[in-house]
Amino acid sequence: AGDDLQEKPSRFHALMMFTKVDKSLSLQQKFQVAMRSMAKHGRFLEDEMLVLHYVSDAGSQEMGKKMLPELLLDATFQYEVVFHEVDTLTEKLFPIVEAMQKHFSAGSGAYYSDAIFFLSVAMHRIMPAELKRIVQLDLDLKFRSNIRDLFQEFNHFPAEAVIGIAREMQPVYRHTFWQYRKENPKSRVGDPPPDGLPGFNSGVMLLNLDAMRRSTLYNQLLEPKRVAHLAEKYHFRGHLGDQDFFTMIGMEHRELFYPLSCGWNRQLCTWWREHGYGDVFQLYYHCDGPVHIYHGNCNTPTAGW
Ligand code: UDP
Ligand code: MN
Repeated sequence: AGDDLQEKPSRFHALMMFTKVDKSLSLQQKFQVAMRSMAKHGRFLEDEMLVLHYVSDAGSQEMGKKMLPELLLDATFQYEVVFHEVDTLTEKLFPIVEAMQKHFSAGSGAYYSDAIFFLSVAMHRIMPAELKRIVQLDLDLKFRSNIRDLFQEFNHFPAEAVIGIAREMQPVYRHTFWQYRKENPKSRVGDPPPDGLPGFNSGVMLLNLDAMRRSTLYNQLLEPKRVAHLAEKYHFRGHLGDQDFFTMIGMEHRELFYPLSCGWNRQLCTWWREHGYGDVFQLYYHCDGPVHIYHGNCNTPTAGW
């Protein structure tokens, strides 16, 4: 397998959801900030390649192909671009994630088109086996560090970890787990860091697809019965897709997740400060240490950061 390009550790794979971009000036601006800052700070060795994967519809793909060369003009590294059709991936994903959608999607039904919000959850089942590791990134990011350093975090995963992910920086899961917390007043579920379990944010994720494929536990947790059981235990009802699933199973099985430092996904949204959680907000929002990536979630501008 020595000449299999995908197996060479010199290829670094990053994936972004990239749909309806042609219809949204706001998404185009976020895309520009993300790619320009990634290019500006990115440093790779001579024989290395950054492979950029975009999950897109036809219109967004066309727009991406037009914009990318200019956005990556300053890149000193080699890169390759791969577009994946969102419809093709959705077709493969839907049967795997359909049952969990009702627990973690807005509205009551399990809409076919919402399956793509669970791509990270089952990526190991639908991407070719040669793809061993991938980083999934939001579009509303601004890099301040070399993205290659993010990939180095894979090397710190403990044996049982399958996903690297940073904590959520708002008390959203304190809210979601309200009933469970009332019934279990000593539990740390939904409590702030450093001792609590505030849940995860999916803006920056390290997916060790190999480890996800090999983990019996992780694959059992994808089974509809297991998901329903945990959702009932925690009285969990969310609408944030993959990050809800990871947060819920993380409460039960911490060992599956390698905690990325908050600086790798420094979220800026402050919505929950103004919606009933002003008293505890800072405990969650606080992030010490160097910021490598700003995440302008809930449309928070990154311009001043
Ligand atoms: N996204 C997309 N098209 C859309 C909306 C979202 O491709 O119409 C992708 C994009 O990569 C974005 C990610 O989905 O970064 C998650 O959405 P967003 O960042 O707006 O959510 P937030 O971080 O504010 O919760
Ligand atoms: Mn985001």
